[in-house]
Amino acid sequence: MIPALLIAAAVLAQLALQPAAPQPAAPTSLQPPGLHDSIPAITLPGLIYAKPFFPGATYDAAVPTPDSVLGFPVGSRPANHAQIEAVIKAIAAKSPRVKLFEYGKTHVGRTLYYAVIASPERIKALDELKADYAKLADPRQAPAADIDALITKLPALAWMAYVIHGDELSGSDASLAVLHHLAASNDADVKTLLDNLVVVIDPLMNPDGRDHWLIDAAHSRTKQPQVDDQSLMHSGIWPSGRMNHYLFDMNRDWIFATQPESRGRIAAVRDWNPHYFMESHEMGSQDSFLFMPAREAINPNHSPSTQKWVAVFGREQAAAFDTQGWRYYTGEWNDDWYPGYSSSWAGLRGSIQNLYEQAAINVDAVRRPEGALEPYRESVHKQLISSMANLATLAKNRAAVLTDFVVERRKVMSDDSAYAKRTFAVIPTANTTRLNQFLDLLTIQGFEFTRAEKPFTTDALDRLGVSRPAQAFPAGTILIPNRQPLARLLAAMLEFDPRMSPEYLTTERRELLRFGRSKIYDITGWSIPMLFDVETFQLAAFPTDADAKPLTFAAPAPSKPTLPETTVGYAINGLDDRSVAAAARLMERGLWLRLSLKPTTLAPDALPRGSVIILNKDNAHTGLNVRTLTAEVLAELNLPAAALKTGWGEGDLPDLGGENFPLLQPPRIAVLGRNPASPYSYGQIWYTLDHVLGARANYLDFDSAAFADLRRYNVIILPDGTGPKLADRLPALKSWVESGGTLIAIGDASAALATEKGLGSVRTLEDSITKPEPFIQAIIREYHGLTESVAANTGYDFAPRTGDQAIQYPWDGSTADKPSDDELKRRDEWRKIFMPQGVILAARTDDRSFLTVGSDDRQSMLPVLYTGSTILLAPAGQAPVRLGVFQPTPPKPSASERTPSEPTASEPKASAGGPAGAPSSPTAPKLGWTIAPPNHELRLRMSGLLWPEAAERLANSAYLTRESLGNGQIILFAADPNFRAATLGSTRLFTNAAIYGPGAGANQPIKP
Ligand SMILES: [Zn+2]
Repeated sequence: MIPALLIAAAVLAQLALQPAAPQPAAPTSLQPPGLHDSIPAITLPGLIYAKPFFPGATYDAAVPTPDSVLGFPVGSRPANHAQIEAVIKAIAAKSPRVKLFEYGKTHVGRTLYYAVIASPERIKALDELKADYAKLADPRQAPAADIDALITKLPALAWMAYVIHGDELSGSDASLAVLHHLAASNDADVKTLLDNLVVVIDPLMNPDGRDHWLIDAAHSRTKQPQVDDQSLMHSGIWPSGRMNHYLFDMNRDWIFATQPESRGRIAAVRDWNPHYFMESHEMGSQDSFLFMPAREAINPNHSPSTQKWVAVFGREQAAAFDTQGWRYYTGEWNDDWYPGYSSSWAGLRGSIQNLYEQAAINVDAVRRPEGALEPYRESVHKQLISSMANLATLAKNRAAVLTDFVVERRKVMSDDSAYAKRTFAVIPTANTTRLNQFLDLLTIQGFEFTRAEKPFTTDALDRLGVSRPAQAFPAGTILIPNRQPLARLLAAMLEFDPRMSPEYLTTERRELLRFGRSKIYDITGWSIPMLFDVETFQLAAFPTDADAKPLTFAAPAPSKPTLPETTVGYAINGLDDRSVAAAARLMERGLWLRLSLKPTTLAPDALPRGSVIILNKDNAHTGLNVRTLTAEVLAELNLPAAALKTGWGEGDLPDLGGENFPLLQPPRIAVLGRNPASPYSYGQIWYTLDHVLGARANYLDFDSAAFADLRRYNVIILPDGTGPKLADRLPALKSWVESGGTLIAIGDASAALATEKGLGSVRTLEDSITKPEPFIQAIIREYHGLTESVAANTGYDFAPRTGDQAIQYPWDGSTADKPSDDELKRRDEWRKIFMPQGVILAARTDDRSFLTVGSDDRQSMLPVLYTGSTILLAPAGQAPVRLGVFQPTPPKPSASERTPSEPTASEPKASAGGPAGAPSSPTAPKLGWTIAPPNHELRLRMSGLLWPEAAERLANSAYLTRESLGNGQIILFAADPNFRAATLGSTRLFTNAAIYGPGAGANQPIKP
């Protein structure tokens, strides 16, 4: 037992030392010798929080206390990763109730741990326990009676996951106190708890972020206390410690599993199948404390059963706070629509979920509006009381929770489950890297899938939500039945278009109109088949004639592959995403390459557009061994190549010596980062170049880059966030582009360039709302450029001879009733209120642009995630990717023709261009600022919430533009193409731009 007074004394002693108390890895003190030593730190009233964490508890003295390992009272200030590691190892070494597991390494190399705490007997038999939990999670594994017997004897499993946002500190310190208490308490209540529970504690999910933040905070340390939450020690420094090393928000990554920390965690949770899952966070310093339940919108795949329990846990947590007199709330800003938050993901796996959000104190204390101080240790105490309250609720309800867990699993796999009526079918693609990434994600999540050995035909629904009767599927189609133990998570990740309720949509719309703000916390569409751009269909039944078999993964290629000798050269299939990485790495080794801009067949090899060509002739003068170097790079990337036998393109197809095979130039990339760049945008670029491509790039400080020698680079990338600070950089960037540079901008950086005072001729919608005609004409011209044909036997009769044959202009009538400029602006301001939070839109791609190579085998339609507020209008031929795909206006479907999974009209229509089934009209339908071709509609929304007003702004705007300027080019992305490293379809556009840009889109001088 540690009396309160003792704690107070210890905290006071610590405060007296503070800030002199040493903390490994970072200096925390300013301690000059001499005169100044005599001036003590100020003691503010209320700075010390001395309440004991576990009043009256008695402990096994053999188990070390966190205080003894840390050298300061646990919770009095944040421990760093090394200190946390030391505490959990020390406790695990001495407590028979604890076993420590490593589950991964961070990017920087810090080890990730979870501790299992259970009764000593159970700790000795953890593998058996794990196997029993697996049976509850998949009741097919055992007879019902056996499962029921397990329910009566098994403890419930709580997964307590602390601090995924590295600068939300208090949870980790609380976790050390909780761990010690459970590991060492001699008291009956803890023993009873462990009769009913197994507790897993992950004390720190984001070690890189936490240590990053603590080091920054140490550098901002003052001798006197800091209680102003606007000061540097509280606010942090760009990019803060929220994210991991590559600046990913790992609390969004559970459904994408791109980061090593997430991958380790997902595997660990999959191993144990917890019944309760909690994630701890912090929020604004002046806030109070939030826990679950969440409020609408709640993802429809969450089960009513877990939702019911979430409320039970919340009530008892509230009661625990009431005994302390602490303020708290539930719901308010906390929705549960996006499934990639920690507890949402776990909830969809069947765990009762919870989220703690404590007001961030960070260090010392924070002065509140009423004048009181909230000390850091109090914030730790709230996390701790919450943890213990939830564990008590779980222990008390052990049998009922386990019963409901199993009932729920049986329900989702029953015949009358909605999930039993859906199978996802993924068409195989030559983009092996992409397909493997998709299958890897299914595998790590623990989903079941098979491969069709035979072709089959069945009715299907495509990703646009369009019914495809009797759709043919080839052998090799991946089949993912939704009827499986993890049905809910699978549906949440893969389904095309979940719907918010009309009641919620009403609330959201009123919120937008009244307060100009959305109630939605994250993106509204994330369907993996769309973000990954793998061509996927939904089937109403599992195709029994497909001869589906479990999929066996191909053995890795031999480590020392050889390529056959050839006089011509080699080609790498451009459909594979890794062909871009191969190009970057081959150029890094000094080889000269070409890119194919049109599909061709150099017999016997059919080469899709975007193939990378390595010619002996281009490289003969370098003295490099083309064959050996190519084989080495292919081995690094596990890619095949064809040995070309000829440069002769079959028939009219391009030959190797012509203009369709430009010479690539080695990219020398600079990314302008740090303030004011968005850390996410910057991090995603950094990760994509560094990890996805494995390419060298240079990462510059935005401010210092004003004085940098830009001639070193031929590609400069401006992340989202840099837009507002770009104005004074434009003259330098302009002359750099004109001399041959490739300038790539994203989001608001694109918006800053797309103005009268910017660079080039692309404009934002705001800039052009009163004069959109040139951009409308561009769309008409592009459309006719793809669709016009001259009728047979026309001869030259179409040429006017008498002058009386009037030319029909395709925009006739479209501008007849143009409103005044004021009205146009007023309408756009109104539409702006409804801009989306992150929605997946269908885009059409230009098959003659080097930027779109690699996306040709999938419906000529590219799903892109639109975020932010940049809307770009582009002149004809300058938009390789435009938002929306034109489709003939279909006849209005009767109710019986609707498939069950099709929308039922509660939400704004996906398409624009007049109601479906409207009488055909020779004039072009109006779509906000733009138009659609006569008798066509524009399919725009694929997944997520898109109000019709916003659709009218986004329709036909450019997602990606490219324009020559002097010898160089400007490439603008309206939204972030590398979002969370999960938007693989649009990431390919970005990697094409960065690696192929200097050769395929800019002119480089011959150096005589
Ligand atoms: Zn957080």
